Amino acid sequence: MSEGTHVLVLNAGSSSVKYQLIDMLDGSRRAAGLVERIGEGGGRLVHTPHDGERREQVQVFADHSAALKAVAEELAADGLGLDSPELVAIGHRVVHGGQRFTAPTLITDEVVAEVRRLIPVAPLHNPANITGIEVARALRPDLPQVAVFDTAFHATLPEHAARYAIDRAVADEHRVRRYGFHGTSHQYVSRATARLLGRDPAEVNVIVLHLGNGASASAVAGGVCVETSMGLTPLEGLVMGTRSGDVDPGLVFHLHRVGGMTVDEIDDLLNRRSGLLGLCGDNDMREIMRRAEEGDPDARLAFDAYVHRLRKYLGAYYAVLGRVDAIAFTAGVGENAAPVRAAACAGLEELGIELDPELNSVRSGAARIVSPPYARVAVAVVPTDEELEIAQQAFALVRAA
Ligand code: AMP
Repeated sequence: MSEGTHVLVLNAGSSSVKYQLIDMLDGSRRAAGLVERIGEGGGRLVHTPHDGERREQVQVFADHSAALKAVAEELAADGLGLDSPELVAIGHRVVHGGQRFTAPTLITDEVVAEVRRLIPVAPLHNPANITGIEVARALRPDLPQVAVFDTAFHATLPEHAARYAIDRAVADEHRVRRYGFHGTSHQYVSRATARLLGRDPAEVNVIVLHLGNGASASAVAGGVCVETSMGLTPLEGLVMGTRSGDVDPGLVFHLHRVGGMTVDEIDDLLNRRSGLLGLCGDNDMREIMRRAEEGDPDARLAFDAYVHRLRKYLGAYYAVLGRVDAIAFTAGVGENAAPVRAAACAGLEELGIELDPELNSVRSGAARIVSPPYARVAVAVVPTDEELEIAQQAFALVRAA
């Protein structure tokens, strides 16, 4: 294979494609961008080259194929087209790998067919991911393309954590188990946290709190994920921007039988109209904190419910791990919302968890420790970088091939 060092990372959603072209020599971005509203009127492509001006195209992108062709043209205009000898792989984010895909995988027709077979367990995400793969393969059939799965890092969950306590035959027939999501982020952040502590990931136990619009927690023991808060779907676990997280499953029967709601309406309620949005009408933590500060009771309730759930998971994962070396906050809320970190850790000195208020209030884009040096558990803020992790995994795979 060529000695090139560029990897293109693609994250195809149902109506969007995000991309980054990364130079693996130093992890730098040669270009990055986003196509939105694919298949809808008034699409938009925003392309930002490494050392140039941001460029924007407003036009209709009929489908993912048209969108990716436009991305390829933008890259070519910077001398970084898909035919560049520097490009050695395309890394695709794929949400659901089921039980079959537990590591980055070189994409073949058979792999695409298997990812397609997983659509029933990931109806919202896998179809778009497959479209991205097919379009990219059509544009560069000879280039190695690698699927990196959001579920893969959680494949190490022990059976007693991965199983729901339901009839095993029913569970197995419908592939019902806890898969977990955001795995690429949990993997990247748990390793970066060990590095921040100057220790080998194999030696440290970390609780990772990925708090973005979607949110999940994981317990990572010596680099191996042993528990995570999302389950069969990304709906389980923490209170999120628009998802409820944990509810009594009986609530579904109740809303159907007594409330007269259909399954699709309940799905929409729990995934898109719940969480912070459902509690107070806003899902942006900045706005919620501002409103709570002004005494708005709904915003205060949303903030408190969010933090309460987070603390329940923190305590649970402490017990799962037995010994905790670090807690890492990441993603939009985790990296930026100092009051959420402070509230999540308040009063836990007995567990060795403490924050330094001054360190916690510093705004920075760097990985950093925000607990005092004497604290038994290091509390860290570690910016996540899923694209870099995908690029690294894809690059390692093609280099080893
Ligand atoms: P993500 O999904 O990781 O992009 O996170 C998006 C969420 O992060 C937004 O919905 C906001 O709630 C939150 N967020 C972003 N910036 C800030 C900030 N400066 N303070 C508080 N929350 C923020």
